[in-house]
Amino acid sequence: QDLKNEDLKDMQELGQGNGGSVKKVEHTPSGTIMAKKIVLIDAKPSVRKQILRELQIMHDCNSQYIISFYGAFISDPNICICMEFMDKGSLDGIYKKIGPIDIDVVGKVALAVLEGLTYLYDVHRIIHRDIKPSNILCNSKGQIKICDFGVSGELINSIADTFVGTSTYMSPERIQGAQYTVKSDVWSLGISLIELALGRFPFADDSSDNSDLSDFEGTLSPSRPGPLSALPSAKQREAKEKADKRKKRKSKGVSLQGGGMTMSILELLQHIVNEPAPKLTPEDRFPAQAEAFVDSCLFKDPDARLTPKDLLKHPWIEQSRISSMDLEAWTSTF
Ligand code: ADP
Ligand code: MG
Repeated sequence: QDLKNEDLKDMQELGQGNGGSVKKVEHTPSGTIMAKKIVLIDAKPSVRKQILRELQIMHDCNSQYIISFYGAFISDPNICICMEFMDKGSLDGIYKKIGPIDIDVVGKVALAVLEGLTYLYDVHRIIHRDIKPSNILCNSKGQIKICDFGVSGELINSIADTFVGTSTYMSPERIQGAQYTVKSDVWSLGISLIELALGRFPFADDSSDNSDLSDFEGTLSPSRPGPLSALPSAKQREAKEKADKRKKRKSKGVSLQGGGMTMSILELLQHIVNEPAPKLTPEDRFPAQAEAFVDSCLFKDPDARLTPKDLLKHPWIEQSRISSMDLEAWTSTF
């Protein structure tokens, strides 16, 4: 029962990201609805085959917090990955539609992501590498699951070679070129949770003159942090920013792609490395335990940060676990 392209009927475009697009499709022989991710890979056939082999690990990833995998195949020049379709989409789409997400829901999200990360790491020694709201999906049964984790080393390399990936959820140690660890995912989770609770990307509010960062989606090769020493002069930066703003307006806020790093992305990365981590603010708006949890995800020193497994014991997470918040009812509101 190998998957093949002829058996998949396109239904709807679900979205586009760095290095691919995702479609809702029907597997006509079985009637199963799936999400088909198409990744353009500029690599030799042998590398493509290697990627396909590595992706097979996903067949063994069985957890209620991980998107199920139906199979992958090569459809030249693309690799197609077929996975469970989540009918409420990703959390970035949800907050952009309904506004800031209730902190009790955010608590359930934190719990699900930590469970998913713990499963991936404890059972398969897989580090996710790309935790962000668009990789946290939701369905109308009220389930929350993570997708797009780094199972294939070859795929990670090929995408890094071909495209520039999102960088703005990247931890300070990653930006500085350190080894990826499961604690880097914890940083990305912290940033994502603030984004969901505030309804906007958190690196924006500290000064008024860089308010253009509010809808900022920076891109940079995830495996190749830029040389932060090569920072532009203020004048160059200003000119570049103006050009970028024009470009962004034209492309309706779609993330800047293909051209690699822009000056303002370097600035953002520098900010992440040098400035205090963002927080769940204003202080009286959120439960103290939620604030404390996010703070602990965002310790800038990775040695001080806990692992997903340890964070499952955090009081806010324990509370979220027993909370009566009904996610199924919540998803029926949008
Ligand atoms: P990104 O994650 O950077 O947005 P992707 O190409 O991974 O880019 O995904 C594009 C969009 O497709 C996502 O933002 C998400 O809304 C949607 N999507 C991805 N996978 C699924 C899925 N399994 N079910 C439903 N929607 C999905
Ligand atoms: Mg994705």
